[in-house]
Amino acid sequence: MIEERTLQLQHCMYQYSRAIYRSIKDLIDPYSDRESQIESRRAVLESCEHTMERLAKDPLYFAKPDRALFQDIRRYFPITAQAEVAWAVQAGVTAASQFIEEQIEAGALDGGVARCRATTRKGKPCQRTPLPDRDYCPSHQHLEARAAA
Ligand SMILES: [Zn+2]
Repeated sequence: MIEERTLQLQHCMYQYSRAIYRSIKDLIDPYSDRESQIESRRAVLESCEHTMERLAKDPLYFAKPDRALFQDIRRYFPITAQAEVAWAVQAGVTAASQFIEEQIEAGALDGGVARCRATTRKGKPCQRTPLPDRDYCPSHQHLEARAAA
């Protein structure tokens, strides 16, 4: 079952991936023919999406995601654009990584898995899975009603 929160996260990561793609798509080899350009754009977009998907799924163990993405796509750009592409990729991936880190710090994620936001009687974070579209698990759902009131 895919958690609602994971879907929301995927949607956010998709926005980051589109932002990176938009910032570099016009730098794709301008001297190749139209068909190759379309192919290249598709490949670059796919690489951006794969990187963001992997970052969302495995945020704690994906080392240097910006360099991985740049290595994947650099061949689609002319030498003169490489520095600009590297910079854009780094900026975009850094923004996405920071977003993921904030989600983890806020307790929304635990290595990609949503957890109930309640604290147990022993003072530890509840480890149970929240109800769909909710912040709390079945045992703690009364806390959500209280927060909303
Ligand atoms: Zn709970």
